[in-house]
Amino acid sequence: MSSPLRFDGKVVIVTGAGGGLGKAYSLFFASRGASVVVNDLGTITDASADIVVNEITSKGGKAVANYDSVEFGDKIVETAIKAFGKIDIVLNNAGILRDKSFTRMTDADWDIIQAVHVKGSYKVAKAAWDYMTKQGFGRIINTASAAGIYGNFGQANYSAAKLGLFGFSNTLAREGARKNVYTNTIAPLAASKMTETIMPPEILASLKPEFVVPLVAYLCHDSCKENGSIFEVGAGFVSKLRWERSRGVVFKADSSFTPSAVARRIGEIKDFKDPVYPTSIMDTDWVGLLEQAKQLKTN
Ligand code: NAD
Repeated sequence: MSSPLRFDGKVVIVTGAGGGLGKAYSLFFASRGASVVVNDLGTITDASADIVVNEITSKGGKAVANYDSVEFGDKIVETAIKAFGKIDIVLNNAGILRDKSFTRMTDADWDIIQAVHVKGSYKVAKAAWDYMTKQGFGRIINTASAAGIYGNFGQANYSAAKLGLFGFSNTLAREGARKNVYTNTIAPLAASKMTETIMPPEILASLKPEFVVPLVAYLCHDSCKENGSIFEVGAGFVSKLRWERSRGVVFKADSSFTPSAVARRIGEIKDFKDPVYPTSIMDTDWVGLLEQAKQLKTN
């Protein structure tokens, strides 16, 4: 049997860690030797981050609580630096819902979702970035959602934010690669405050947050070179997603390229019999395509 992956000496920020997935990440990383900043929103009656910290420290682990909103992510990173002197791993996990049909959605419903998910993830990653690139190690996990990938009724605001985070991750993945700063995205499924009202109890019972942890921990380990990927994970299921593109059609680049010409060949445009799997902007051979179009013109 291989030895367990450990995180001794690593400093981890987990946002939205007072419960649900964030709590599960915090307990796990601390149990494997990491020092953890347990972030969540606090109120006079809600000291959930402290409860998680106490659970960690009572078992001999290292953790501190932070109650800043992720919109002020620099303060969360400041807490990590003050308490532990560095930051190695950021788990952008905090989240909220403001579900409404698009007809009823207000600007306020839209803005708060973008602020917490997109700006919040940006602010924490941005404040941690220079520390990570300078030390030559960093791991960032951004949290998307199946709602973002596939769409979901009543979640236009949330879907936009969640898939936006995938684009954000992909660019960070490219910019951090040479410095050993790797960014990946997960679309989790787990029983939590967020899902307890929208799923039946018998399904929730098999969706323990702990079943999302192993993938996240693996992706954050020194030994893992995965970068710029997105995974669906939950209930013990883990799978990776990728883009698939049809071969497509090259039209004559002249006045014959009309909407009716598209209509005539739409079957070929949508034909996935012999697909390609682009992984970067460079995977589209625009020069070759232009050449093909030119040849069509002269034939
Ligand atoms: P949860 O509600 O249990 O946890 C989210 C935590 O984020 C809460 O404790 C909340 O107080 C905190 N939070 C909210 N706004 C914050 C802010 N501004 N600053 C700091 N903390 C804040 O939900 P969860 O299911 O554990 O969700 C974790 C993440 O996973 C979220 O980003 C969610 O969108 C995503 N997600 C969850 C599921 C699922 O099935 N549970 C599915 C898809 C995506």
